[in-house]
Amino acid sequence: MPPRRRVPDDPPAPARPRGDPARGEAAGTAVPLIPADGSLAALRAAAAACRACDLWERGTQTVFGEGERSADVVFVGEQPGDREDLEGHPFVGPAGKLLERAIAEAGLERRSIYITNTVKHFKWEARGKKRIHQKPNANEIRACRPWLEAELAAIRPLAVVCLGATAAQALLGKEFKVTRQRGVPFATVFAPLAMGTVHPSSILRAPDEEARRAEMEAFVEDLRRLRAALERARRGTSPRPEAAQPP
Ligand code: SF4
Repeated sequence: MPPRRRVPDDPPAPARPRGDPARGEAAGTAVPLIPADGSLAALRAAAAACRACDLWERGTQTVFGEGERSADVVFVGEQPGDREDLEGHPFVGPAGKLLERAIAEAGLERRSIYITNTVKHFKWEARGKKRIHQKPNANEIRACRPWLEAELAAIRPLAVVCLGATAAQALLGKEFKVTRQRGVPFATVFAPLAMGTVHPSSILRAPDEEARRAEMEAFVEDLRRLRAALERARRGTSPRPEAAQPP
């Protein structure tokens, strides 16, 4: 049976005992839940029961990453949105459709892409009948990070693309500024190539059609630069560099 959607009218959750170590509650981080068998299937199954931060109470379900273990590129967003929370899949809402379009326009191979989020539960606040997105805080990002690291360790991609400031700062460092450093691939401990760029939802929020078109072009251009760097890496004309600091 699919999980029941949490809605703004829901009464507060009843008091319950805290600290179930099997669900990561006591630790405040998902580390104790990471299975020794680090396959994506085992990770997904374990993450479904995660309670390492309080977001599990608000979200309908854990929304884990999706794609092949053999993926060359991992896209990392911030967190699932309203639609993703209901359907249980990442990037299935309007921002996901825009991302799919940008991937196709940039000429990246869709089947070699894995898509996930920094935080795996939807954080929201009620505004009337609506569920409005809220940015995850540092504790929530820290608690959830082991899932992302485990996904990257299972896949060992050639490239990681951080979509928006939350993903970029979680993986590329707190000092990373998407506005200044977007679209430049560099080496990290997570992958030979990593790049920060905007989150597609920011394009949807552009004030008018002209601004939206310009933002979309810049986004596709970032992904084209990544494709060129990937091609160089595959040809071996760009040696896999050691981890370096962002430019
Ligand atoms: S957001 Fe991450 S750490 Fe928090 S409960 Fe969900 S899966 Fe666990």
